[in-house]
Amino acid sequence: RSPRGNWHARPRIGIMGGTFDPIHNGHLVAASEVSWVYDLDEVVFVPTGRPVFKLDKHVTNAEDRYLMTVIATASNPKFTVSRVDIDRPGVTYTIDTLRDLRALYPDAELFFITGADAVAEIMRWKDVEQMFRIAHFVAVTRPGYSSAVTLPAGRVDMLEIPALAISSTDVRERATHGEPVWYLVPDGVVQYIGKHGLYRGRG
Ligand code: ATP
Ligand code: MG
Repeated sequence: RSPRGNWHARPRIGIMGGTFDPIHNGHLVAASEVSWVYDLDEVVFVPTGRPVFKLDKHVTNAEDRYLMTVIATASNPKFTVSRVDIDRPGVTYTIDTLRDLRALYPDAELFFITGADAVAEIMRWKDVEQMFRIAHFVAVTRPGYSSAVTLPAGRVDMLEIPALAISSTDVRERATHGEPVWYLVPDGVVQYIGKHGLYRGRG
């Protein structure tokens, strides 16, 4: 039986990909909402290695992003974290993430979770047809980004979630300037950023 008491023939697994530099409460609400609405058994957070859309930008090293993701998700019994992307050499492509997760969960129904901004990029992603064959795609609303993007019919679900106008970019800028990030990211992540001096004196 599933978390909502329904019977599903196959385990239902969400995949929440992201740079998570750092992970924030917007990511966690998105995963939690999709998990509830789609009656998922587990949501796997997958921090990217080298994100293909951010090759020109500085990204915090993978171990720090991975550990912050572990800290942020540890208290939720349904949330787990995967190292597939950070352990795979080279640039991260979502098709590789999906293939690795498919191999780890051969019997599961997979749900790839993305925000309204990232979904606009979907059609430009590598091997988009194969990605749709491996997983369902769920795009969640995100403040500041239109959810009115044209998507291939029936391929991507749109889900309205509570609006949290939080971005990792804003959290990094705040940390750089010594401004508060409390309640934008989980307490443990606030402490981790401080302990390791992440984002300090940048920009
Ligand atoms: P950055 O500003 O560095 O790009 P970000 O806040 O966009 O960081 P990402 O790690 O790039 O975070 O996002 C991972 C996934 O989470 C993407 O699919 C993104 O659309 C989604 N997402 C991020 N923040 C929110 C939010 N506040 N509400 C809904 N979805 C979000
Ligand atoms: Mg982003």
